[in-house]
Amino acid sequence: MVDLLPAQTLGWQKVETIALEHFSRAGLQEIRTPIIEQTELFLRGIGENTDVVGKEMYNFDDRGGRPCTLRPEGTASVARAILQHGLLNNGSQRLWYRGPMFRYERPQAGRQRQFHQIGVEFVGFASVMSDAEVISIAWEFLKEVGLSDLTLEINSLGSNEDRNIFKEKLKDWLNQRFDFLDEDSQRRINVNPLRILDSKNTSTKELLCEAPSLNDFLSKKSKTRFNYLQELLDNLNIPYKINNKLVRGLDYYSHTAFEITSEHLGSQATVCGGGRYDGLLSELGGPITPSIGWAIGMERLIILAGDKILQSKSPDVYVIHKGEKAEQLALNITCQLRSANLTTELDYSGSSFSKQFKRADKSLARWAIIIGEDEVSKGQLLMKKLRDNENKEGREEYIFLIEDLNQIINQLID
Ligand code: ATP
Ligand code: MG
Repeated sequence: MVDLLPAQTLGWQKVETIALEHFSRAGLQEIRTPIIEQTELFLRGIGENTDVVGKEMYNFDDRGGRPCTLRPEGTASVARAILQHGLLNNGSQRLWYRGPMFRYERPQAGRQRQFHQIGVEFVGFASVMSDAEVISIAWEFLKEVGLSDLTLEINSLGSNEDRNIFKEKLKDWLNQRFDFLDEDSQRRINVNPLRILDSKNTSTKELLCEAPSLNDFLSKKSKTRFNYLQELLDNLNIPYKINNKLVRGLDYYSHTAFEITSEHLGSQATVCGGGRYDGLLSELGGPITPSIGWAIGMERLIILAGDKILQSKSPDVYVIHKGEKAEQLALNITCQLRSANLTTELDYSGSSFSKQFKRADKSLARWAIIIGEDEVSKGQLLMKKLRDNENKEGREEYIFLIEDLNQIINQLID
């Protein structure tokens, strides 16, 4: 599990601000659910035969002996909250969430045991339009954060019936080649054969090139649906690739499945994963509720955004002072400038003016305000321009009366 240090949090805040604005423009509302849920929720909502439930969850009994789990993902919790509070009585829900998730995995770049997701859930929408809109919200958000070289891959998992027929065909095919499969895949044949299509094992991957394709088992209705999604994406100018091997790791997906990947992430290539989960809410005891959503891994997003998102904002003003009376005035001015929306840093060192100036320079502030005993006695302050907006050095100096706060602020904004 990883600390986020001050040098990193600024980038996170920027991404979260972009998310907030982007999602509210799309009419989404935020939902916040607890980090701990009853284990049962994930057994039912994710499926016992998935990697997440089988190998990755942090499970414990609480003091009342109730089986609990640190949430490994957000969708099941959101679905639970929607049902528990009857939110569907107010109509279909367009929601987003953010926060830490927990999976016991082998930590490496872009893979942690506590990681963070930002996710979107459209609950109660069956139309293909919602699939296209949900995908476009992810695509445009990542673009707005400044990411490029992204690839959108889409697939259709068909309806439950399509998938059940395909599963049997795939099982037969795999069983005939049992000895050539890696151990993990051998284990999965009976419990979760679709997941084998997603195998990262090189020789299994090669073997699978010849495997039956889910695409060939889609009903006419499912095919028409998938074709229309492609038409809508074309219409939105969102480029995509069809990947017939793309299955999501979780059991409740049907029809649309998609991933957004980047070649700059090494083997942890997927930054966004999502799909349609028409079966989840009924699985949890609710009504049949067609739904679609996605989750983006924040750590991977931040890796891709790179240094430009991590650059900290330098202060507008650095306040330098010396002497007892100057000190109080400096604190006052600092607070007043902050109220006027100026980022203001106050020196606390009490060291010589020249040392404080050096620190002001280092902070990359545009302006320094200087208050010494001399200034206090005259009711004045000195302002020095350290650099302009293009970061070129400036050395203009101005003297203002301290009571002319508005003039001071106007000069600083300039
Ligand atoms: P992967 O194949 O990389 O394990 P996944 O299919 O398990 O991904 P999802 O459950 O779809 O991932 O989660 C959505 C996104 O959350 C992923 O695309 C990824 O960006 C991020 N994510 C998932 N697990 C981790 C992790 N352990 N550490 C960091 N990010 C993660
Ligand atoms: Mg995983």
